[in-house]
Amino acid sequence: MERVLLLLPTTTYRIQAFLDAARGLGVEVVCASERPSTLQELAPETLLTLDFGDPEGAAAAVRRFARAHPIDAVVGVDDPTTVAAAVIAERLGLASNPVAATRAARDKHLMRQRLRAAGVPVPRFRSVSLDEDPALAAGAVDYPCVLKPVSLSASRGVIRVDDPGGFVAAVARIRAILERAGDDSRTLLAEAFVPGREVALEGLLVGGVLHTLALFDKPDPLDGPFFEETIYVTPSRLPAAGQAQVAAVTARAAAALGLAEGPIHAELRINERGPWVIEVAARSIGGLCSRTLRFGTGMTLEELILRHALGKKIESYDRERRPAGVMMIPIPKAGRLRAVAGKEQAEAVPGVEEVAITAHVGQELVPLPEGWQYLGFIFARAETPEAVEHALREAHARLSFEIA
Ligand code: ADP
Repeated sequence: MERVLLLLPTTTYRIQAFLDAARGLGVEVVCASERPSTLQELAPETLLTLDFGDPEGAAAAVRRFARAHPIDAVVGVDDPTTVAAAVIAERLGLASNPVAATRAARDKHLMRQRLRAAGVPVPRFRSVSLDEDPALAAGAVDYPCVLKPVSLSASRGVIRVDDPGGFVAAVARIRAILERAGDDSRTLLAEAFVPGREVALEGLLVGGVLHTLALFDKPDPLDGPFFEETIYVTPSRLPAAGQAQVAAVTARAAAALGLAEGPIHAELRINERGPWVIEVAARSIGGLCSRTLRFGTGMTLEELILRHALGKKIESYDRERRPAGVMMIPIPKAGRLRAVAGKEQAEAVPGVEEVAITAHVGQELVPLPEGWQYLGFIFARAETPEAVEHALREAHARLSFEIA
């Protein structure tokens, strides 16, 4: 029986989705996480503890493990595992992205440098050292400007600033976020704010060729100062030529980074000058959002990813035709979640398939830019993208969250 190693950070929402996909394919699974499971001693052949922040150490541990339990594929889930997955795969002699490519995709400054060098449209940027005087740095950028940490994700610490005073305040705020995250990087990225509408491209790279799995519109304006993800709807309402441009620019960006195998999730902004790459991550869509996607005759995104990693046949990269969407329910304010009401009413909205509240009562909620989680996810399918968007908004309006 084939065996796949899944790298599952403790923060992931997707353990079940990947386990279900693996079961469906009849492959054995070894789950690795950063924290030891209490079950590990009972099941040492299927559970591993790996420090994803130390890819070399993780790879050495996997090599020892693999002597007795050969591994056929390594699949990293979510941002924290992309580099470790590439290093482990390389050490085991399995096909994967080059390690350097995954490192470039995980460092926003390096990514900008690589993309600019390859002529991929990116905003003007400059790195800002946390050791330099922010008031001086504030005089060296144009406004509006977006300041961001180079290594966090989920829009954490990403702040639009419109003047030097805002710049200095944002640097202090991001410095505190990095400290709390235990991130010791000493540089931030400052880049020109790109106006326009935003889309997300979900893709799979196979031998360096990009297959677009879905193009999502993000119909809520994302103009800052913080950039909360909310609604994703696919198919995109962009004209076909615009969609083709987005796919072409994304493919160039992936190639410029050196990414060649496995899922990518790219964010682009589109304005009168065409598409601009905000980022390309070497992972699939996060949260529970993959539930919006079905391929061929009902295959999940997780199954598609496992099939690719195992070198199994993929009949179709085509998404099911029916328009679909998800709303990541934002955290409206800081505090402790006391109660959630209206779930049934929200699920009764025509087109709404599911309302998954992932925050638990009693949980301390932290909104952006410090936080990175959501209250939950609303899923909808309908005849048109407009109807999907409408259903998601209507369902959200029926939910209420008591936060003290
Ligand atoms: P993360 O990896 O944390 O999600 P990103 O760099 O992708 O960080 O930024 C998160 C969001 O912030 C983007 O999806 C976009 O909405 C917004 N954003 C980031 N950089 C810019 C920019 N230069 N111009 C306009 N919006 C931006």
